[in-house]
Amino acid sequence: MSEDLRNAAERVARQAYAPHSGYHVGAALRSANGQTYVGCNVENASYPVSACAERGAISAAVAAEGRGFRLDAIAVVALNAQGEWLPVTPCGACRQMLVEFGAEAEVGFNGPDAGWQTVRAGDLLPYRFILPDTGPR
Ligand SMILES: [Zn+2]
Repeated sequence: MSEDLRNAAERVARQAYAPHSGYHVGAALRSANGQTYVGCNVENASYPVSACAERGAISAAVAAEGRGFRLDAIAVVALNAQGEWLPVTPCGACRQMLVEFGAEAEVGFNGPDAGWQTVRAGDLLPYRFILPDTGPR
């Protein structure tokens, strides 16, 4: 996990729209093509409408690279309103999204116990949903 990704995730966390929780999350990913894309959480007064940083970064990558996008690594950083680091791990929905684009991808985050750690995306969600082949459509 490069220092650049972690720094980019911290920078974009400062852009987060998190007036309801005060939990500012930034994600910076590197595609297999070597490009960097970022996302931050965007909350809403209607809480379920809120969007996660990780999926924002993936959306930006797919918008730029199309269906061929593959995830190589992603860093996730969370800050409080004072800019201090908080623990964070990708939520379940984001784990599902990450493995679809790169089960072998490195996922770095400031874990709740061990500080900064890097794990394989597939290890974050071992029994991920896989859409079976349903035959001709
Ligand atoms: Zn999420």
